[in-house]
Amino acid sequence: MPRLTVVVPAYNEAAVLEIFHARLGSVLAELPLDCDVLYIDDGSSDTTWELIGALAARDSRIGALKLSRNFGKEAALTAGLDHVDADAAVVIDADLQDPPELIPALVERWREGFDVVYATRSAREGETGFKKFTSALFYRSMERVSDTRLPRDTGDFRLLSRRALDALHQLRERQRFMKGLFTWIGYRQTAVHYLREPRQAGVTKWNYWRLLQLAIEGFTSFSTAPLRLATWVGMAASLLAFLFGIWVFGKALLFGDVVHGYPSLMVVILFMGGVQMLALGVIGEYLGRNYAESKQRPLYFIEEKRTPRARS
Ligand code: UDP
Ligand code: MG
Repeated sequence: MPRLTVVVPAYNEAAVLEIFHARLGSVLAELPLDCDVLYIDDGSSDTTWELIGALAARDSRIGALKLSRNFGKEAALTAGLDHVDADAAVVIDADLQDPPELIPALVERWREGFDVVYATRSAREGETGFKKFTSALFYRSMERVSDTRLPRDTGDFRLLSRRALDALHQLRERQRFMKGLFTWIGYRQTAVHYLREPRQAGVTKWNYWRLLQLAIEGFTSFSTAPLRLATWVGMAASLLAFLFGIWVFGKALLFGDVVHGYPSLMVVILFMGGVQMLALGVIGEYLGRNYAESKQRPLYFIEEKRTPRARS
């Protein structure tokens, strides 16, 4: 029988883990596959790890990794996917925003021969208009500037075939924008649509600050357009400054330099200063990225590991 591993990153999810596993468990029981679940405790400070242990005592299909600290969802996912030796893996959030009931539909498309089956949400309940707007803005601009086409309204909830997993395993970049990486590997990809529910319990770890950082990560990992933008802005500013200079010069020639040039000088200096700072910032963003890559640090450390009893 083909084997499937469900990879679940969990950071301070003690509040939902029990219901989550109950729902996941009943879905997996129905599947004609040899299933197990791999929980990754991303350095939780609550009782998540103990809870996983308690669940594993009851359910022999549970394996788990405990990272040595909070590395962030992307690293937790990577750790999980690196440890999958099954024929396919499903990535799902622990907060029940991704309905486990969709897994059979994902599996079905995989059996039809697709390598990446991603779940696309058709409605966003419990999210503010502003969040929807910013997210639409992100996807739209990303499509404009990057060669990597990101599927819209798609989280990390998806199924990956063995060869997709192997491909992903070779992408060891440190600043990981998973959504982009999943798409970048190629192979046969398809979508399954569903309704996204509001988070069941606990709080989201994504505030706008983190989302903005994720967006910057997405842009700079998959596009050098911001670098080009800096060039354009710089060129436009220089041109404007040049025209302004001609005007000031002409005026002085025709009417004499009555005053003192202080306002115009100030305007030019401030404007040029601003443009230079912008360009420097953009370059710095890429330079910092280069620095992080060049350190060649491992993506995560594992503190504890438990294999499913069913396997050992
Ligand atoms: N998560 C994680 N490490 C983190 C933050 C989140 O492993 O540093 C996990 C979290 O436990 C959940 C999933 O990633 O299973 C999605 O997190 P969240 O619900 O906060 O994000 P959202 O659904 O708002 O995108
Ligand atoms: Mg969530």
